[in-house]
Amino acid sequence: MKQLEYFLADEAATIAIGSGLAEVLKNATVQQALVVYLNGDLGAGKTTLTRGFVRGMGHTGNVKSPTYTLVEPYELGEWRVFHFDLYRLADAEELEYMGIRDYFNNDCCCFIEWPEKGTGLLAKADLIINIAYQDEQRVIKLQAETVHGEQVITALAE
Ligand code: ADP
Ligand code: MG
Repeated sequence: MKQLEYFLADEAATIAIGSGLAEVLKNATVQQALVVYLNGDLGAGKTTLTRGFVRGMGHTGNVKSPTYTLVEPYELGEWRVFHFDLYRLADAEELEYMGIRDYFNNDCCCFIEWPEKGTGLLAKADLIINIAYQDEQRVIKLQAETVHGEQVITALAE
């Protein structure tokens, strides 16, 4: 399966997609990290979805938006999760100073808001997620970009 689309009636539905992705990774027979690009206008729900994922991976505290810090790291058992928000990134070179390459290890899941700001410096996405407004609600599209991404959305749809 290459593509999946859902209508998201409310915030809880957006969170459920994030926690669903966490369940898929935790239940996989072979542990493999995931790189997700999150597209959508301001307020679409990119951070909300990531919050569902981070909580689903076992984080119990706050999940704040990394708007000013660019990245928020989480150590969750054998997993590391990095939540990026590159909206305020002035220069892609800043990512080099942050040591961005170290974030794309095999035990790291990366959820990246505004990935176009980091073009050329980010790992290839396994999944590209688009969240769009539909009046007060949302529509989400998940597009697989790798074999691993396909396996993940196939499992998510089950
Ligand atoms: P982004 O990170 O894309 O800028 P946020 O996740 O910070 O967006 O904010 C999304 C806002 O929209 C939150 O106020 C959240 O409660 C709301 N929201 C999330 N999903 C839905 C949905 N499916 N329907 C309606 N509102 C939603
Ligand atoms: Mg956000």
